[in-house]
Amino acid sequence: MSKKIVAIDMDDTICHLIPKAIHYHNLMYPDLPLTMEQIISFDLSGIWHPACTDDIFFGRPGLYEELEIFDEYTIEEVKRMTVDYDVIVVTAARPASVPEKWRWLQMHMPFIPFDNFFVAKRKYLLDFDLLIDDGPHNLIAAKEAGKQTIMIPRPWNAPVQQDFILKDSWQGMNELVGQILT
Ligand SMILES: [Mg+2]
Repeated sequence: MSKKIVAIDMDDTICHLIPKAIHYHNLMYPDLPLTMEQIISFDLSGIWHPACTDDIFFGRPGLYEELEIFDEYTIEEVKRMTVDYDVIVVTAARPASVPEKWRWLQMHMPFIPFDNFFVAKRKYLLDFDLLIDDGPHNLIAAKEAGKQTIMIPRPWNAPVQQDFILKDSWQGMNELVGQILT
């Protein structure tokens, strides 16, 4: 029997995008600093500096290569997961950031082969068994399609956290995936 497929998001699931993007935003616009707690939706246009744009906030050259690992357990847990599951990394990357994201994966998780790197915004079209993600839109769509889900709790998914299994650290993630998929 083929392995079950576990789809893992990148930004704010295995690495921290929003804190780094906020950091650069605040360096550029010190008169209007943002905090994590303010990020309560994926639409930031109402809270970032009026001069800020999607390209400035999310498209800074090199941004995706310098993102920090989610926590000290992330790499080991993902690596262990590849023993029992077909682990695919699925990211809704901006086209220009795809090479940066692939290089980040190669640097931190070289055990993820190119075949398992998916760039997809409409993740619900993929045939995975379980999705680990922070994006409410991805998790809701996966759930509606009958897939299993694990939500990384972040300020922007607070309104729907009660509908999902939450895991705010990668410590023990394998065990949780095993419990859900057996
Ligand atoms: Mg994400």
